[in-house]
Amino acid sequence: MRILVFSDIHANLTALEAVLEAAGTFDAAWCLGDVVGYGPDPNECIERIRQIPNLVCLVGNHDAAALGQINLEVFNKEARQSAHWMREHLTYDSIQFLEELPNRKVIDPVTLVHGSPRNPVWEYILDTNTAAANFSAFDTQFCFIGHSHLPAAYLCPDAQAGVTLKMPPVGQVFQLEGRAILNPGSVGQPRDHDPRAAFAIFHSDELTWEPMRVEYDIHSVQERIYKAGLPSRHALRLLQGW
Ligand code: ZN
Repeated sequence: MRILVFSDIHANLTALEAVLEAAGTFDAAWCLGDVVGYGPDPNECIERIRQIPNLVCLVGNHDAAALGQINLEVFNKEARQSAHWMREHLTYDSIQFLEELPNRKVIDPVTLVHGSPRNPVWEYILDTNTAAANFSAFDTQFCFIGHSHLPAAYLCPDAQAGVTLKMPPVGQVFQLEGRAILNPGSVGQPRDHDPRAAFAIFHSDELTWEPMRVEYDIHSVQERIYKAGLPSRHALRLLQGW
């Protein structure tokens, strides 16, 4: 199967449309959470991903925040403003969709979470030590994560070898061997100083991972952010990818 793996859409419909177009045909789509938060198009993004056949979608921390399931004090000021805006603007259908999202899903050989396998919604995996501590928290060969908005591959070829961080080059097919924790990066708010929308293609038969990027019309999204009265910082960061 050819599977689209994507995460952290963050209510950015223009980036989402570009990713779906660039991904070509796929047999399934796995979305690793944070469909909403930050961006201007939460309902439109939910409506769009609901149309994707064989979609599996996880809940992210911003989805939980928009549902009012968490204390917003844990967010910085702008993220908090955006979470309040989401709560005011989500439709009944969108809320229902988000409320049903699981925080962990196993589709052998992959475990899907937003943050990390030991703390599915909240923990960031940003270094090899944190990744190493998480390999015992899932039983499958692979774990796919989002949350950090940084594409990454934490590789653990065997228990003795330890964990290494690799950044497989965009557009190249990377052969997976041993266990791995993989992050496709963010669709709607990349933070690796590459403003292009990020996603990955996972081939479940060949066990390959292909990181991809696609350009989209950032200015149109910025205009909608300003028009919606969302924090301008969320518009500025899209242009530089931080
Ligand atoms: Zn996110």
